[in-house]
Amino acid sequence: MSYFIKYQLLKMSTLGSGVLAASKIPILVLCGPSGSGKSTLLKKLLSEFDNKFGFSISHTTRSPRPGETNGVDYHYVTRDEMQQAIKNGDFVEFAEFSGNIYGTSKKSISDVLYTQRICILDIDVQGVKQLKQIPDFQSKQRLVFINPPSLNTLKARLVDRGTETEESLAKRLAVAQAEIDYGITPGNFDLVIVNDEVDKAYGKLREFILPDIQQLEKEKTQTEGGDGDK
Ligand code: ADP
Ligand code: 5GP
Repeated sequence: MSYFIKYQLLKMSTLGSGVLAASKIPILVLCGPSGSGKSTLLKKLLSEFDNKFGFSISHTTRSPRPGETNGVDYHYVTRDEMQQAIKNGDFVEFAEFSGNIYGTSKKSISDVLYTQRICILDIDVQGVKQLKQIPDFQSKQRLVFINPPSLNTLKARLVDRGTETEESLAKRLAVAQAEIDYGITPGNFDLVIVNDEVDKAYGKLREFILPDIQQLEKEKTQTEGGDGDK
C-alpha cells in the first residue's frame, strides 16, 4: 500500500468529520418507512458482496429486539449516553423516531471507509435531510428510497415481523405516509424502488450500485498494481 493511501486512511480514522473529506468511496444511503424492507435488501447486498460493502452501525436508545446483537445491528445506548455523545459532536446526523433517538456516528462511517468498502447507511428521512446539508457527502452519497407497495402491505409486513407493540406499530405507521411523500418527490432521491417482490427490488438496487462496485475495484487494482508497495 502506498504511503499516500496509508496517510489518507490514517487521516480518515482520526479526523472524525474529516473522514468524509478524505475519502471518495461512495456512501449508499437506504431510506424508507419502517417495514419497507431496508434491512432485507441491505443484508442481501452484504451477503452477495461481502467484501465490497460495510454497514454503518448506528447508535440507538431503543432496546435490542430478539436476535439483534449490540455492536452488530446497533450500538445500544441510554438516552443520557446518546445526548452526551450528541453534545460531543460525535454524530453526522441523528433523529428522534418512534420515541427513540437514532444516530450515525462519524466513527461508524470511518470504520467502514477505512476498510475501503462502500458504506451502507439505513436511516430515516430526517437523517437524509441532514446528510444533504453536509458538503462532503454530496458527491458520494447514493440516495435510495425503498417504497412499500401500499400502506396496507407495510402494516401487514410490520405485523408479521412480530417486532412491534401496538403502540410502536401505530407510531411507525403514523409517520409512514409523510416519509413516502418526501421519498417519492422527484429530486429527493437518486432512485426509488417499490419493494413488491424482494428479488425484483434487489435486482434494481444491485444494478444501481454495480458501477460503484466496479469503479472501486478498478481503483483498488490500479493502486495495488501501480505503487509497488504491497
Ligand atoms: P425495514 O428494515 O425497512 O424496517 P425489513 O427489512 O425488516 O424492513 O422488512 C420488514 C418485514 O417485511 C420483514 O419481516 C421482511 O422479511 C419482510 N419483507 C421485506 N421485503 C418483503 C417483500 N418484498 N415481500 C414480502 N415481505 C417482505
Ligand atoms: P428500527 O427501530 O426499525 O431499527 O429503525 C427505525 C427507523 O430508524 C428506521 O427507519 C431506520 O432507518 C431509522 N434509523 C436507524 N438508524 C438510524 C440512524 O442512525 N439515523 C437515523 N436518522 N435514522 C436511523
